[in-house]
Amino acid sequence: YFAKEGRTGVEVYLAEKDRNSPERLNLLGDLRRAIGGSQLELHYQPKVSLSSGMVEGVEALLRWWHPERGPIPPDDFIPLAEQSYLMRQITQHVIDTALEQAANWWHAGIQVPVSVNVSARDLLDPTLPDLIEAGLGRLGLPPRAIQLEVTERILMTDQAYTADSVHALVELGIPLALDDFGTGYSSLVRLQRLPVCEVKIDGSFVQRLGKTVDDERIVRSIVDLVRSLGLRSVAEGVETDEVAQRLRDMGCDAGQGWRFAEPMPARETTAWLVERMGAPSYGRRCGSHEVTA
Ligand code: C2E
Ligand code: MG
Ligand code: MG
Ligand code: MG
Repeated sequence: YFAKEGRTGVEVYLAEKDRNSPERLNLLGDLRRAIGGSQLELHYQPKVSLSSGMVEGVEALLRWWHPERGPIPPDDFIPLAEQSYLMRQITQHVIDTALEQAANWWHAGIQVPVSVNVSARDLLDPTLPDLIEAGLGRLGLPPRAIQLEVTERILMTDQAYTADSVHALVELGIPLALDDFGTGYSSLVRLQRLPVCEVKIDGSFVQRLGKTVDDERIVRSIVDLVRSLGLRSVAEGVETDEVAQRLRDMGCDAGQGWRFAEPMPARETTAWLVERMGAPSYGRRCGSHEVTA
């Protein structure tokens, strides 16, 4: 969102410079040193059922607190990392951290799945399923404790349809979601060929609901399309009551956005979840997820 409307200084600067500019290499070096340290932190944003108000999960969103530059939004550093070997390390770190947090919640009775964003290349990495399976095993978590989100752009790479990693993840029972849907002009055929269970409608369309007729039509047709494929629709960037109401009327399944909660540090998220779900013991049932453990 930072990047879509006004681009931030760092990003504009980097876009104007060539790939090997000192500026770019400095930032990548800073990022490499930040991995595993306290500068990188995961925040979590709840996903809420639009019909029942129940919490369906939380999405892990990476934050980078640069010692000199201050906070750098992920839209400024993730694309940079994706063009280097660093993305793999970041994804590994994010998955490990998110799984540990999921285990803390899960074993305290707050059994909400944690969604992790992965880059297209990491989704196709043949070692990803093993990494996740090992983490789940170590922490005593079932596969549905985690979900992976990958942007719609993945549909443009034909590799995705045949990748061993994707099949292995599905075999493991790890749910996949398609992120930022609507921005990449994917066809129905392409969507149908990837084993996703959830489609997230890009916030740029959601935020303009009620303001432009075109966006209203786009969101409505995505919701209908997703339902006709038997998948779940989730709206991103739900900022107001009015938008939440319109989405519900369209039959959109779930929403995420400031209307419900902003992304929060782990500790605040715990407090939010406990308050929302009553007491931890109530967490034996969350949203549509039956707990069998
Ligand atoms: P995304 O996965 O589509 O995440 C949704 C973005 O919308 C997040 O931006 C979130 O903070 C923002 N948002 C949530 N509610 C609202 C709202 O009501 N209004 C508005 N205007 N924005 C809202 P954020 O955290 O800056 O992340 C941007 C993107 O960076 C993410 O988009 C995701 O693609 C990427 N990203 C974040 N963390 C990771 C990560 O750990 N790994 C990877 N590969 N990508 C990540
Ligand atoms: Mg996402
Ligand atoms: Mg998105
Ligand atoms: Mg996005």
